[in-house]
Formats: sequence, C-alpha cells, structure tokens
Amino acid sequence: MQGLIYDYHCHTTVSDGALSPTELVELAAHHGVQSLAITDHDTVAAYPEAQIAAKNTGIELISGVELSVLWGRNELHLVGLGMDLAHQEFTDLIAEQQSARTKRARKMGERLDKATGLTGAYEAAVALANSEAPGRPHFAQYLVAQKQVRDMEHAFNRFLKAGRSGYVSTPWVSLEDAVGIIKRAGGVAVIAHPVRYRLTRMKLRRLLSEFCTYGGQGLEMALPRLAPAQEDMLYDCFQELPLVASGGSDFHSPQQQWLTLGKVPALREGTPFIRSLLDPLVH
Ligand code: AMP
Ligand code: MN
Ligand code: MN
Ligand code: MN
Repeated sequence: MQGLIYDYHCHTTVSDGALSPTELVELAAHHGVQSLAITDHDTVAAYPEAQIAAKNTGIELISGVELSVLWGRNELHLVGLGMDLAHQEFTDLIAEQQSARTKRARKMGERLDKATGLTGAYEAAVALANSEAPGRPHFAQYLVAQKQVRDMEHAFNRFLKAGRSGYVSTPWVSLEDAVGIIKRAGGVAVIAHPVRYRLTRMKLRRLLSEFCTYGGQGLEMALPRLAPAQEDMLYDCFQELPLVASGGSDFHSPQQQWLTLGKVPALREGTPFIRSLLDPLVH
C-alpha cells in the first residue's frame, strides 16, 4: 500500500465542486491518482458518470459521500467510503438529507432577502447549483455577484456562518445513526478534517472514543496544510483507539491553486491505512 497515490475526499458539480464527475476523474488520473473516492455533500449522484470515467481512465473508484451530521450541538462532517450505493437504508438517508438541504436553502434564501433587501436569493442559488438544494457556497457566490460582500470568505463571515443572519440550523442525521447506516451498507465511516471543528484535545478524544463505540473506524489523517502541532495531536489521539487512517485533498475547484488531487502528506510509518477495508466499485 505504501506509495499508493489516493484521494478519498473531493467534490464535483453535483454538490459544491467546480468540475463534472468526468472532469474530476480525468484530472485525478492526470495527477497520477490510482485510487479515488468522490465525497459530495449528502449526495452520491456523481457515481453513475464517475464509474464510466473511471473505467475509461483505469482508475480505481471507491464509493463515497460526505454527510453533514450532528454530534450533540456540533455540526460535523462524516465521510462514508465503500458503501453499496443501492442499499435501501443508505439511499433513504441520502433522500432525507437532501430534503433537509432543500428546506434549509429555502429558509436561507428568505433570511438573506431580508438581510440584504434584495429578492430571489434562493432562486439565484438554485440556478448556480443547478439543484433545488444549493449549499452555502452557492449563496456565497450569489452574494459576491450582488456586491454584498468582497469574496466568498467575507460572505461566510458576514452572512453564512453559525450565528450570522443567513445561517439556518438544520436537523441533520445524528453521528451515531449515520455511522450505523454506513456500516450496514457495507462501508467505513470516517471523521472528516478533524482539525476544522476547533475542538480541544479533550473534546476531540471524547468525539473519537464515542465514534468508535458507534462502530466508526476511520479518521482523516493525511490532510493538506496540517500544522505540525495539529498533526502531533491527531497521531496522539489516533494511537489510543482502534482507528484506521484515511485522507484526501477536499478538492473543490482548480481555482484552489494550493490544492491538487492526490496530493496529501504521507502517513507516518506503521499507520494502519483504510484501503484494505474498502471494496472498490471499479477496479
Ligand atoms: P454547506 O454544506 O452548504 O453547509 O456548505 C459548506 C461548504 O462551504 C464547505 O464544504 C466548504 O466547501 C464551504 N465553506 C465553508 N466555509 C467556507 C469559507 N469560510 N469560505 C469559503 N467556503 C467555505
Ligand atoms: Mn464543500
Ligand atoms: Mn467538509
Ligand atoms: Mn469536503
């Protein structure tokens, strides 16, 4: 497994990415990626097209998703890898999350209309996303185009992050239920980008140990731009628990010039890697 070029976290146009599933798989192949999972937010709609592109380019494709979940009052991201995409309980979960996203987006649109004095934020975000369930980046794009903010970052800070006028809290699936469903669908649940939640070391430990009791197995460890102190903290927590390491770029767009598909730091010697637990869709 050593030397395998992989990326188990990236996005396409079916959620908030800039590339179509075919373009993404082709770019991954161009960068030498050998094993790929696409992890769109609360959807697996990239897969029918991605499977064809994977066959054509000879890349190994693993099923994937990035679910928005609740752990207590914390909104976290949970990656699922290697599920049977036709598993009933899993497809039901995706449908529920999509419906929650649609309702959230409608409310977000209303709140942004009120906050900006403009009209039609929801409709504009739907057009940008080409979906009834646009995400916050689509609303951010709209706010930039309307000159309400300077850039995406400003849109999140001013309107979209928790506590701001456009933020809508959403009844996502619980971490415990999501882990159970991923497992029963034959997949492996992975805590995504653990350093992005601003958890103290103690709270991260508690999260990971509860996650393991639910049947969770994976932790993203190979992450771009991890500070040395963060990496030390992750390895400390990782070693105390029966976890396997995953990782990926969280690529959204070629405009993120500091990111490349398949470019993640190597895992430390002897770190158990997730790949052997995953059953590919395309070999
Ligand atoms: P959503 O899933 O609709 O809640 O949107 C979350 C997505 O917004 C993340 O997956 C990122 O792609 C993007 N995002 C989050 N924070 C920021 C930020 N500060 N600037 C730009 N994009 C962000
Ligand atoms: Mn995203
Ligand atoms: Mn995420
Ligand atoms: Mn992501």
